[in-house]
Amino acid sequence: MRPEAMSCAPALNRIHLSPPDVGADEEIAVLRALRSGWVAPLGPEVDAFERELAAATDRQHAVALASGTAALHLGLLALGVGPGDVVLTSTMTFAATVNAILYTGARPVLVDCDESGAISVDLLVKAYEDRRAQSASIKAILPVDLFGKVADYRSITPLAERWDLPVLSDAAESVGAQRYGRPAGSFGHAAALSFNGNKVMTTSGGGALLTDDAARADYVRYLASQARQQVRHYEHTEVGFNYRLSNLLAALGRAQLARLPEMIQRRRALRLAYRDFFAEVPGVHLLGEADGQPEQEDHRENFWLTCVVVDPAQTGWTSSELVAWLEDANIEARPLWKPMHTQPVFAGAPAYLNGTSEFLYHNGLSLPSGSGLDEGGRGRVLSALSEFLELQRRRHHG
Ligand SMILES: *Cc1c(COP(=O)(O)O)cnc(C)c1O
Repeated sequence: MRPEAMSCAPALNRIHLSPPDVGADEEIAVLRALRSGWVAPLGPEVDAFERELAAATDRQHAVALASGTAALHLGLLALGVGPGDVVLTSTMTFAATVNAILYTGARPVLVDCDESGAISVDLLVKAYEDRRAQSASIKAILPVDLFGKVADYRSITPLAERWDLPVLSDAAESVGAQRYGRPAGSFGHAAALSFNGNKVMTTSGGGALLTDDAARADYVRYLASQARQQVRHYEHTEVGFNYRLSNLLAALGRAQLARLPEMIQRRRALRLAYRDFFAEVPGVHLLGEADGQPEQEDHRENFWLTCVVVDPAQTGWTSSELVAWLEDANIEARPLWKPMHTQPVFAGAPAYLNGTSEFLYHNGLSLPSGSGLDEGGRGRVLSALSEFLELQRRRHHG
């Protein structure tokens, strides 16, 4: 007898936060690329993926790259950011945003967020004025579309114009979302997408730089290909990078992009199920939905991750207790991003703070949100949540 056959209660499979959702379409696409002989970083699948990405995001140009981080890095270089410059960005983000600034030799200035997690426009103004007064060479603004919600570009864009600063939009988490009737990635002078394995759509690893400026797109393509001049012998006048996306992965990306609306619908259904569930729980609200609206006419998330914020004074339990409970049920849940100004590696960066990002970090958690989560998996998560709440009720009311 095999050892596992003796166990009476087999361990339940782990439910992940946001695993890749791939199937037959992706398999066919990758095989098609493989059999075509274009097993290279470049090829017809890359060209087609770039055209389809540009069309989906309302942009003139898309450059497919090895990661979202590479897209941020080259996006900053293409906007003229370099050593000694300053870039204003959000502290409530993933480390890649700030790493990319440091790769260019520029210095990040970190700005706190509002209660939705988006960069605080009031503090952005304060940071700009304060740094200007200290004669900083401010070169760009890098807002982040946090957890699939497009940032407040209607406020940010006029400020950037007044200050004569370019905007690079970190749309790594927001592909497929919309705001003001425009798609994520269409805002700013350029935008970066990520196709990492945990995002709404994936190429297993990849990203793209979006822009309407042909010269900028060409420059990014050139930098990403080792800054090789267009001559037969190998001629280089600048330091380049090996950042292009492989043709095989672009094929995977095309299959995912075709399924993006359907995958977003599935994430949305999950969001609504969580919303109904927590509507009955005082002291818990969904991040960015303080007004109870999951979506408005001109403002639609891609529902990448559903995050909840817990008020322990009202609930009698904390977000970390819930994370630990779910972990025991082999269900992955996590705190929100730990703000960049609290990261040892970025400790030297100036920060303009209002306490909100730290509040969200201490009281928020993200729940399993993958589009591949089936009925059984969703049921398991909701049951684990119910059991936790029942236990807490008994604990507090005898
Ligand atoms: C995922 C992510 C990135 C980086 O993308 P990679 O493709 O993993 O390099 C950048 N910024 C944010 C906000 C992200 O969530």
